[in-house]
Amino acid sequence: MSTENAIKNSDTTIQFYAGLKTIGGTIFEVKYKEERFIADFGMVFQNKEGVQARPQNIISELQAIGVIPLISGVLKTDEIDENATIAISHLHLDHIGLLQYVHPDVPIIMSEGSKTLYEHLHTIGEEPNVDVAKQVKSVPFHQALFVSEHIQVEFFPVNHDAPGASAMRITTPDTTIVYTGDVRLHEADVDTANLPTIAGSPDLLIIETTNVQEEFLDINPVIQSEADKLTAGLLEIKSPLVFNIYHRNLKRLEILIEAARQKGKTIVFEPETAYLVQAYKLEAPHVRYLLDERYDSKISNQIHAIQPITVAELNSEFSQVWLQSSYHHMMTLLDLPVKGATYVHSNGVPLGSFDPVYAELLEWIEKLGMELVVLGVSGHAAAAQIKWLADAMQAKVTIPLHGFTPELLQGPNQTFLPEKGEIYPISTLLGEK
Ligand SMILES: [Zn+2]
Repeated sequence: MSTENAIKNSDTTIQFYAGLKTIGGTIFEVKYKEERFIADFGMVFQNKEGVQARPQNIISELQAIGVIPLISGVLKTDEIDENATIAISHLHLDHIGLLQYVHPDVPIIMSEGSKTLYEHLHTIGEEPNVDVAKQVKSVPFHQALFVSEHIQVEFFPVNHDAPGASAMRITTPDTTIVYTGDVRLHEADVDTANLPTIAGSPDLLIIETTNVQEEFLDINPVIQSEADKLTAGLLEIKSPLVFNIYHRNLKRLEILIEAARQKGKTIVFEPETAYLVQAYKLEAPHVRYLLDERYDSKISNQIHAIQPITVAELNSEFSQVWLQSSYHHMMTLLDLPVKGATYVHSNGVPLGSFDPVYAELLEWIEKLGMELVVLGVSGHAAAAQIKWLADAMQAKVTIPLHGFTPELLQGPNQTFLPEKGEIYPISTLLGEK
């Protein structure tokens, strides 16, 4: 398909800036006349040890190396385009990582659950550069909203490992597009499973394909719920336990707290995580936060519902404790009797061997005399489930993205693999011209 075809004035177009043949970021734009709807604004760029962009030029330098897309009218250094809105499917970095470079006058919308978490993340210093209260507006699920004169969006809940995760339906006068965001399907799931019923038969389906990889194609698609898989694994561990999690997954916190209770252990969180535990009212008598003045964060002052525990106290009670340890705080473990402990890696960072830091993490674990146990649960549907979802959605054109090998997914009708940066009139994709 070519963009040389004349674009009718009334025609909706779509353009992909990121998310093609990668899981490292997703950004695409739907345009109707001058009205612009941008879905997700993420890119994972981990280069902290390497070449640094200079703060004064950070946007242009990150654009020059392809981290920030060449997108007009929405970045801090741009003349703002008042016709643009950015909509966020969920709060993983590959979907929101570039919001920090967005001009403060560009409206950002997300689900109510996402906005609540975003505010808490802002409080604990993880999303410092967006004024959430001023710039972000929440949208209830199942309520269509006009973001501009002709572009309408409706958010739907989906199952994924972040609170507030959403799919969205984008409607313009001449087309309907459904974007799944990131999705998972458990046996007992209703949200993702309901998507075909409530948002089926769009013109275009844009669907994630994280697990649609050659080696996963034949794997049994039954995915246990987080609680089913993790609780059993956690309860089996007899030694003291150190764990590394991604605290944007609130469900994971809840499961750990409950498993520790069942095992009769005290569970100790880092202050930032403890703040989230408190914010979501997950505190319990056996929950503590670590008070270590060497790392102490200002957030400790805002934790009232959870009692602190010092490193000295932790030392004497260590066999009765499950302790959170993020990779960047591992030095604390030098002060504790961790030899013989089990290090439970539960989807914290560094996430896996594709991250160069992962090898260093393994070295640390060995150096400290701990045993590694990986107890993770994928946030993404299995390949066969994605195929089921694409078929059930019955889109005229299926666009697989956010995966290493999206071409392995064939939709029920036409399937289309877009090129980065190309502008596609929807009517061309639908074969109407
Ligand atoms: Zn995600």
